[in-house]
Amino acid sequence: IELVNQIAAGEVIERPASVVKELVENSLDAGAGRVEIEIEEGGARLIRVRDDGCGIDADDLPLAIAAHATSKIASFDDLERVATMGFRGEALPSIASISRFALTSRTSAQDHALRIEVDGGKPLPPKPAQHPVGTSIEVRDLFYNVPARRKFMRAERTEFGRIDELITSLALVRTEVEFRLSHNNKPVRLLRRVDSAAALPARVADLLGQEFIEQCLRIDHSAAGMRLSGWVGLPTASRAQADQQYFYVNARLVRDKVVAHAVRQAYADVLFHGRHPAFVLFLELDPLGVDVNVHPAKHEVRFRESRLVHDFLYRTLNEVLAETRA
Ligand code: ADP
Ligand code: MG
Repeated sequence: IELVNQIAAGEVIERPASVVKELVENSLDAGAGRVEIEIEEGGARLIRVRDDGCGIDADDLPLAIAAHATSKIASFDDLERVATMGFRGEALPSIASISRFALTSRTSAQDHALRIEVDGGKPLPPKPAQHPVGTSIEVRDLFYNVPARRKFMRAERTEFGRIDELITSLALVRTEVEFRLSHNNKPVRLLRRVDSAAALPARVADLLGQEFIEQCLRIDHSAAGMRLSGWVGLPTASRAQADQQYFYVNARLVRDKVVAHAVRQAYADVLFHGRHPAFVLFLELDPLGVDVNVHPAKHEVRFRESRLVHDFLYRTLNEVLAETRA
């Protein structure tokens, strides 16, 4: 089983940011209002994710770290309408098999927490521990027993950059959640929850910069059962914005050829040919119209009617951008 877990891990866990992604998505699935992410040495030494979500029941604790024991997808129908993110019941066992792992959790029904440690895939018996309602997961020495993977880790700054990028992409869409991110014990981001629509631009400005929010155009347009909202930036001299392109489909970050083409065309047709503008866009459509499980780790999607989606995106963006010419 250990080997199976390690192989599964190798497919999905490529680097520290992949671990952070799985852990933070679990925290969000657990209804957390606050997620705290502590990183040391780019995640190679420590990744700790602490949340105030529902916690894991004592009886379920061993299951949570056993391969294929859990999954939020209960039926084929769920798969069709998959609302939660992440892959299926393999993240924790996979991560635990390639690190020194500890999970501490408490539900509101328990008066103390339980802590379970796993060393290279071998779980030790759970022990009582101190912890408020919620869950903390610690991942130390990632890949310590997978030398091939460890070798592929980049510089500390690069790996942390990936983590920061990931947190940014989650914080842009999960605005009702407070995120804290620290690196080597220094606070890097403190994003308080957004309580009103008026507070939303402040979070975007926090993440993408004041310049972006001051110069961008606000979009909110619905047609043909779809809605496109968010902010589109105008090209500026600032090169920092070049890779600030966030596109979400039903609240999930995607990189998709159809989307990329429609966006590029819309910009190119108006006045920004050849540039890489920043944008944060949210497309909402019937979940049955899009398959987000093509490859959960790779942000791919498949639209049922990609022509329709393409035209809606292109036309909406084109109209908004054309106004700037007037
Ligand atoms: P999946 O998310 O696909 O179910 P995971 O391996 O990521 O599989 O997690 C296993 C299970 O552990 C989850 O289904 C959930 O019940 C529980 N779990 C993991 N992380 C948390 C958390 N932060 N809070 C509450 N429960 C969690
Ligand atoms: Mg998960």
